[in-house]
Formats: sequence, structure tokens, C-alpha cells
Amino acid sequence: MFESLSDRLTGALKDLRGKGRLSGADIDATCREIRLALLEADVALPVVRTFIAKIKERAKGAEVSGALNPAQQVVKIVNEELIGILGGETRRLQFAKTPPTVIMLAGLQGSGKTTLAGKLAKWLKDQGHTPLLVACDLQRPGAVNQLQIVGERAGAAVFAPHPGTSVGGGENPLGISAADPIEVARAGVEEARAKQYDVVVVDTAGRLGIDADLMAQAAGIRDAVQPDETLFVLDAMIGQDAVSTAEAFRAGVGFTGVVLTKLDGDARGGAALSVREVTGEPILFASTGEKLEDFDVFHPDRMSSRILG
Ligand code: GDP
Repeated sequence: MFESLSDRLTGALKDLRGKGRLSGADIDATCREIRLALLEADVALPVVRTFIAKIKERAKGAEVSGALNPAQQVVKIVNEELIGILGGETRRLQFAKTPPTVIMLAGLQGSGKTTLAGKLAKWLKDQGHTPLLVACDLQRPGAVNQLQIVGERAGAAVFAPHPGTSVGGGENPLGISAADPIEVARAGVEEARAKQYDVVVVDTAGRLGIDADLMAQAAGIRDAVQPDETLFVLDAMIGQDAVSTAEAFRAGVGFTGVVLTKLDGDARGGAALSVREVTGEPILFASTGEKLEDFDVFHPDRMSSRILG
């Protein structure tokens, strides 16, 4: 991801090298190139507009002084503004003062929620936590089973509503309805309290597109478990649709952070660059493959450096 954006941006900035002073026309030409590069990468138009306006203003006002030549100064400004649209500081996962911390995952079907549940479980375990995964995706055939498989790989317990699969030891001891994800979510948090798991990760159902029932169900789960973090899982490959999907989830469920998945793909990267600005919520984690370890905390500065080459 970001390869062509990266090439275009470094190309645009390279043209400034060797210039002793930058004229207004130089800066305008560079900004035009940057604008095209961002639009081509599918970055949302309002994000591009604000970004370019800031670069222009700062580049034109920049004092030619210090150790940086004018071209380096523009690169520095672009880097800082890129870090800004990616969220600025690294935002860490927030844990509840009194465990269990409840983390709810929301997003479209196929965005990578179940895979993420396993990744988060491994990451949490590596940090010394004791996570419990709760299977509330009761819509997609195989989702419960898939969660059990990733949970097992991560060495984490899984709470599921089916006989023989619950952490409680077999016969669905809580007697909850297998068809009601809200009840399963509530019972999962109870289970964590009773058995002293300190983090609960609630996997929820997604649909292929935005859908009122899906939103109502996710909102019901949210109300039942009162998550400390609701993570919106966004497939970075979906391009321009990312913005409307994120906005729909923000309005329908609300979230406290974003997880970008499939950053290993060859999409143009606009979703990653737009989602923070469009939703106002930070990106917390990035997923870069199907394996449990293809996952890390998202660092805006590192991502910007990668894009600028
Ligand atoms: P869910 O429907 O939201 O639970 O999505 P899944 O977790 O089942 O993921 C959908 C597909 O995307 C699966 O085939 C995953 O292996 C794959 N997947 C998830 N995350 C990533 C990622 O970061 N990179 C790649 N390449 N594939 C991923």
C-alpha cells in the first residue's frame, strides 16, 4: 500500500531540490502535484483540500533559515501535516480502572473483525493481560468457529453460546439464547467478571453493506456491555467507500478508535489517510496480514515516514 502515493509525493518534492529560494509559483506547482497524488490515492476531497491549504500557507510563510534548505523545509511541513491527518500522537488503548476492560469490535462483514479479535488477544496476552473473546457474530456461518480457532491460536479463552463451546465448561451453563447476540455479549462480560479475565473482546456481526438492523444490533450490544473502547474495523482496501462506511458507523454505533486492516494490500491508501480527519477518531492499530503477528499499534509518525520514503 501507499507505493504509488509515495512515489508521487517524493517525485513532487524532489523537483524542489537544488532551488535556493522557493517562489510562490514553485510552491503552487508542488502543491498541485501533491493534490493530484492524494486524489489519485483516493483520499477524501475535504481532507485533501484542508491538507493542501495548510501546506501552502505554511510553505509560503516559512522562514528560510536554520539548517534546512527550502526544499527540506517543505518536506518537513508535508511530513508534519501528514502526521497530523494520521492523528498526531500515538493513541494507546485505554484500559478500565476496574477490570474487565470491555472492547467491542464493529465493522462490515469481511473487514477483519474476527481475525482482529485473535490478534488483539495475542497482543494483550503478550502485555500480560488475560483476555476473553466473546462470540457475538451469530450471523455469519462459521464466525463462532473461526473465533474459537483464532482464540486457540492466540492461547485465549473464547466465550460462545453453543453447547460444548462455552468457557464455562460445556453445556451452555448460562442457558442463554444462542440467537441473541446482546444476551451473549452481556453473559460474556459476566463470565469475565466471574472468572477474572481482565479484558473482554466482543466480536460482533457485520453485513456486506450498511444496514439498519446491523446498526441496531451493534448499538444494543454497546448499550448492554458499555464498552471502554469501541473499535471500528476498517478494511483499507475499500477505497472511497471507507468514508461513508465510517460515517455510518459513527452515527449508528459510535466508536472510540479505528483499526485499519489489510494494509498489506495493494490499494491506494486513501482510506487510511482520510478516516481520522473524517471521523475525528484516532487510529489505534494496524493489521498487515492474515497471521496473528501481522499486527501492531499504529504510529502516525512512522506511517508518514513510510509514505514519504
Ligand atoms: P469479519 O467478517 O469482519 O470477521 O472478517 P474476517 O476476520 O473473517 O476477515 C475476512 C478475511 O480477511 C479473512 O480471509 C482474513 O484472513 C482476511 N484478513 C483479515 N485481516 C487481514 C489483513 O490485515 N491482511 C490481509 N491480507 N487479510 C486479512
